[in-house]
Amino acid sequence: MVGAEDNYQDHDLTTMYHEFIQEFNHINGVFDILNEFMQLWEENIWESLFNLHCQWKNPLELQGNLKSAPEKLILVLAINNGIQPNKRYENYSDAVYANSALFTVDYDSFQYLHIFLEKLYTFYLGRDLVVDDLWALHKSDLSERILGGLDLFNLFSGNLFLGDKFFQDIKNVTWGEDSIIFFKKFHNLFFTFLFEDQGESETTYNLELEKILVLLAHSGAVLSDNQKIDYKCVLRAYKTLFKIIKTDITSLSDKRYYAGFLLCEDCNELYPLLEDEAPFDFSSCSCGGELEYLSSVDGNQFKK
Ligand SMILES: [Zn+2]
Repeated sequence: MVGAEDNYQDHDLTTMYHEFIQEFNHINGVFDILNEFMQLWEENIWESLFNLHCQWKNPLELQGNLKSAPEKLILVLAINNGIQPNKRYENYSDAVYANSALFTVDYDSFQYLHIFLEKLYTFYLGRDLVVDDLWALHKSDLSERILGGLDLFNLFSGNLFLGDKFFQDIKNVTWGEDSIIFFKKFHNLFFTFLFEDQGESETTYNLELEKILVLLAHSGAVLSDNQKIDYKCVLRAYKTLFKIIKTDITSLSDKRYYAGFLLCEDCNELYPLLEDEAPFDFSSCSCGGELEYLSSVDGNQFKK
């Protein structure tokens, strides 16, 4: 990692870094991932996502609107293929994190991916999510693209469908002995670098990312017709995660679910959105005022 030495002020971390490099520098692509990780760090992305994580509340729960949650295709497919939610932990409580088996794929893995995408969507929107955002996000094929296309997820459009076989195969994937050690040490290095003190929020942030990376590594093995996760799958999982983070995912959402209105906060003008329009396509009102999005439900209430 060129130029990164200065950032490793802590002695333990320096030692950890050098040991890691010594052990794994023969793996093709390892420095690319280190560099990409540092790039995201320099752009304060890890910090921004961590702050969102700390404040995170299930958006629908906040709005007292849990019943209007969109069904998530991936979760339905997972359940149909015997990947069942743990009934004791139905809500996004901390208990979920504590009870997930780390290096396997289970129902929580898919759930974490969805929650992570919601946070990232908030990040790119620059505001809290409303119900229509959740529909536009979860009714899009984004999570299917991610699991079925990995680092090429942005290239697939609407022609990628994950079948039952994918979910059956993903359950049978196992870790290679070397690759699990590689993954554990790699991830530990990243997180030791990000957080000197690791409290509860740091731990849950770490676990969420780790769980998603494990899921992506499993997908990588399935896609390469391999029963075992090797180094390549681990590196591709990181590459995919970084690419997801760097992609403005609002462009991949399904705009049809924005059936509401934009309201100008200055002149009170209401603009209904057309089928191929989303609130983030408009920056301001013709009067220069700021626009606020009202979901169709709110808009109707406004009109009465
Ligand atoms: Zn206006």
